[in-house]
Amino acid sequence: MTKQFNAFEMAQRQFDAVAEKLQLDESSRELLRWPLREYHFLIPVRMDDGSVQVFHGYRVQHNDARGPAKGGIRFHPQETVDTVRALAMWMTWKCAVVDIPLGGGKGGVICDPHNLSAREQEQLCRGWVRQVVRNVGPVQDVPAPDVMTNPQHMVWMLDEFERIRGGHFPGFITGKPVEVGGSLGRTEATGYGVVYTVREACRRLDVPIEGARAAIQGFGNVAQYAAKKLIELGGRVVAVSCWDNDDHCAYTFRKADGIDVDELLSFTDRFGTIDRERARQVGYEVLDGDAWIEQEVEILIPAALENQVTAENVGRIAPTVRILAEGANGPTTPEADAVLAERGIFVIPDFLCNAGGVTCSYFEQVQSNQNFFWPKEEVLERLDEKMTAAFHAVADLASETGEYMRDAAYMIAIQRVATACRLRGWV
Ligand code: NAD
Repeated sequence: MTKQFNAFEMAQRQFDAVAEKLQLDESSRELLRWPLREYHFLIPVRMDDGSVQVFHGYRVQHNDARGPAKGGIRFHPQETVDTVRALAMWMTWKCAVVDIPLGGGKGGVICDPHNLSAREQEQLCRGWVRQVVRNVGPVQDVPAPDVMTNPQHMVWMLDEFERIRGGHFPGFITGKPVEVGGSLGRTEATGYGVVYTVREACRRLDVPIEGARAAIQGFGNVAQYAAKKLIELGGRVVAVSCWDNDDHCAYTFRKADGIDVDELLSFTDRFGTIDRERARQVGYEVLDGDAWIEQEVEILIPAALENQVTAENVGRIAPTVRILAEGANGPTTPEADAVLAERGIFVIPDFLCNAGGVTCSYFEQVQSNQNFFWPKEEVLERLDEKMTAAFHAVADLASETGEYMRDAAYMIAIQRVATACRLRGWV
């Protein structure tokens, strides 16, 4: 029988490999390869039909040596403690690589919100907070939305937290609606952040961004704003793709002289699915789902989901491609990574490339704690500064040591967290 994929085992293996390269001492390795704290609890919810359903909830705090733990809460039927542990660990590295003063955490509830009424979801959110209220908060652990949770869930959680604690604590949670203390610029942050790193990679590689061609997998939040920013900088996005839930397959939409984001958005639904008929009418070629990867472009941006650039399709990448920017989390398999490294394609690893989201969440927390909110331009300017500095720190290390970009990013992140643990006297 084949062993099931376990995200936490993979996260630990990645950590072990870099810890070895860094010659990290034994106690630091033991401290960092496990979560510092984890909570598993039950949330009884009175359902609309009067019955009580008991849900399993989690919060994992992987490490908070650099600041309060930070990470989203997922509602998902296949959630397991190991997925939450892996995601919490990756958050530690993501916050460290962009050098924001936060640690890594993640939460979850095993449930399918599609089958829950709004009232039941509200009870679930409030129940989640009641179970961890002593262990989370603006100076301990700051949650955020993730898969199948949204700004409304965050407000219910904030309200429950404030009722119990008796006061206003808007810095308890991020991803709030702008009307209740959310940050301007959060919607754009991840996609724009991806392109800030692409812009800097182009500079280092001497690829003029003006006129550079790109193909993007996906057309959701990250892809849409990445496309917008790239076009604003003079680039040309020749293809995007999306998943069609009715046909259970993906499609690529190509326009050789460049897509028009607003035009495409006028017939894209809120899940990022593009209407094929309308696209054809305005001159798009509709190709198979994998076609985005074989376009003659300089820049590839997988921005849909994990496990997309694989041993099977990596060979289809055109010789023109210079940069692969991982907008999605975990889009490249280790086998494909080896091929990319051998071909000299410059990879901007996910936890650096898509860190714009968490960086803006950090800004939201800062604004909330100060009760003073910045204009959107200021948020985006600060985001650009952070992403640019983080990118060059990693690229400098990679070029000085000859390490692959992903390994260089891990080395910087792990070293920063290990140093904080050592300075605190934990190891
Ligand atoms: P989204 O749900 O808004 O959009 C996903 C897009 O991918 C949709 O257009 C969908 O049709 C498309 N898609 C799904 N499966 C596909 C397939 N097999 N082939 C082609 N297209 C497919 O999601 P998002 O928020 O844009 O997130 C995309 C990725 O970025 C995820 O991996 C997510 O974890 C990661 N990410 C997002 C953020 C954020 O702030 N939104 C932050 C960090 C990382």
